[in-house]
Amino acid sequence: MRNMYEEALRRRLPGVEERIAEALRRSGRSDAVGLVAVTKGHGVEAVRAAVAAGIRRVGENRVQELESKRGEWEGAASGAGPAGGSVPEWHLIGHLQRNKARRAIALSDVIESVDSVRLARELSKEADRGGMVVRVLIQVNVSGEASKSGFDAREAHAAEAVDRIGEVASLPGLRVEGLMTMAPFTDEEAVVRATFGGARRLLERCAAAGVGLRGRELSMGMSSDFEIAIEEGSTMIRLGTVLFGERQP
Ligand SMILES: *Cc1c(COP(=O)(O)O)cnc(C)c1O
Repeated sequence: MRNMYEEALRRRLPGVEERIAEALRRSGRSDAVGLVAVTKGHGVEAVRAAVAAGIRRVGENRVQELESKRGEWEGAASGAGPAGGSVPEWHLIGHLQRNKARRAIALSDVIESVDSVRLARELSKEADRGGMVVRVLIQVNVSGEASKSGFDAREAHAAEAVDRIGEVASLPGLRVEGLMTMAPFTDEEAVVRATFGGARRLLERCAAAGVGLRGRELSMGMSSDFEIAIEEGSTMIRLGTVLFGERQP
């Protein structure tokens, strides 16, 4: 029997895929954009529905919720046999406290929200100790809003941001695959566009400076702004509401 999330995706996903394709077309891109289904605030049924719909990545913003949901998923999947050990790929997308670094490493396939050098050092130390390499993205704050975490990446601070990203990329145990950012919550399209464009330019600066990034991922775009993000070069969008509906508060 279908769960309510499978029903939601059956109704909503085709339209979202069409909007993604149109944004790619508008910007003259011939590549694809990755999709992270943000399942925070929903049960493990949302994960099941995403995987059944062919979505290979899910996003959670809290370690606690990631732990319980992944535990449920793997508990239910054992025996039935999921399609390979790494489906879905679990992305941590929310602010991570340093004292949860070890748990986050154990639970995440990709940590998208590395928002400070101090956190990066802690993750590096824990990964190295465990003989692991953790895939991460560096979260950058392009708009300069105090409410947003991430490396200060305002235009005037870009050179310093490149240095600090290089510092993180050189740490053992971390594989920095690109950048992640969030735009301000505003109706002003120009502000959103400038934020995403700033993240893309920063990634280009990092690549030009040869700071040791191991990928060119640009995780940007949520339900309210993913088309603008794609037009500005996003390679990975993180969608919750537009796929699953409103979350319970
Ligand atoms: C919740 C969340 C999303 C998804 O938000 P929607 O607006 O529901 O698509 C994306 N990225 C991050 C970092 C989030 O916390």
